[in-house]
Amino acid sequence: MKIAVLIKQVPDPNALRFDPRLGDLVPGIQPVANEYDLYALEAALRLREQVGGEVVVASVGPARDALNRGLAMGADRAVAIEGEGVPGDSWVTATVLAAWLRREQVDVIWCGQETSDSGTGNVGPTVAALLDVPLVSNVVGWEFRDGLFEIEREIEDGHQFQEVAPPVVLCALSALPQPRLPTLRGIMDARRKPQERLSPADLGLDPEALDPLVRWEGLSQPVAKAAGIVLQDVPPDEAVEQLLAFLESRGLLT
Ligand SMILES: Cc1cc2nc3c(=O)[nH]c(=O)nc-3n(C[C@H](O)[C@H](O)[C@H](O)COP(=O)(O)OP(=O)(O)OC[C@H]3O[C@@H](n4cnc5c(N)ncnc54)[C@H](O)[C@@H]3O)c2cc1C
Repeated sequence: MKIAVLIKQVPDPNALRFDPRLGDLVPGIQPVANEYDLYALEAALRLREQVGGEVVVASVGPARDALNRGLAMGADRAVAIEGEGVPGDSWVTATVLAAWLRREQVDVIWCGQETSDSGTGNVGPTVAALLDVPLVSNVVGWEFRDGLFEIEREIEDGHQFQEVAPPVVLCALSALPQPRLPTLRGIMDARRKPQERLSPADLGLDPEALDPLVRWEGLSQPVAKAAGIVLQDVPPDEAVEQLLAFLESRGLLT
């Protein structure tokens, strides 16, 4: 079985800091693999252990650290798609990934439910639509038996069970088994595993046609809410006075 895992490299969500002077994130934040994508990769590695075959990790945009992590965890090879036209918006990213997946003829596509930076959740569903294959989102459990996946997915007020045959796109949540940590042996082996660099043009795409449908205008930080007051164990008369003073200080009393 050929299993593809879509991995995005994101700035470490625990180290994110916004610089209002730049109007952007503070540069130089350690890049990491998107968390849900590591759960997707763990699922792919377990599927390969069960049915055999190959696991390929792929990324659009700069992703050396994330792809190396994937190889060190046990993926067989990695593909980085970079160059003119990418990353664009989530439609462009999905279009480029779909072109690569069509060329690879994969049986199963694992991806994360969403990323920790842009987090649109669009890429998985758009890839499935472009490849005209089914998609199962919010995956929290799975079994593969007799050529069929039995999937457990999270819904609003419980879990739903679905059955689906490959080819399929499966979007992972972090309720799946914990991603394995790369071993020293895994990190060493990763250096010898094949890493392919492709451009959208190599996939038969015209970079000119990869025009993002959504353009980023800029980033801003939510306005910090003014601190409120807590009136506790205060005699009622005094509480009323303090409340009136508070409302007045904010121009809320006419
Ligand atoms: C320099 C730069 C410029 C950008 N300009 C724009 C812009 O103008 N307009 C705009 O809308 N966005 C822009 N983006 C954001 C970029 O388009 C999105 O981050 C990207 O398309 C993925 O969307 P997402 O993070 O919402 O993915 P989601 O849909 O939340 O991701 C779901 C899953 O899809 C897979 N996936 C997502 N992205 C990738 C990837 N790159 N490689 C492999 N797998 C992936 C992962 O498994 C992930 O868990 C820009 C990003 C960069 C770095």
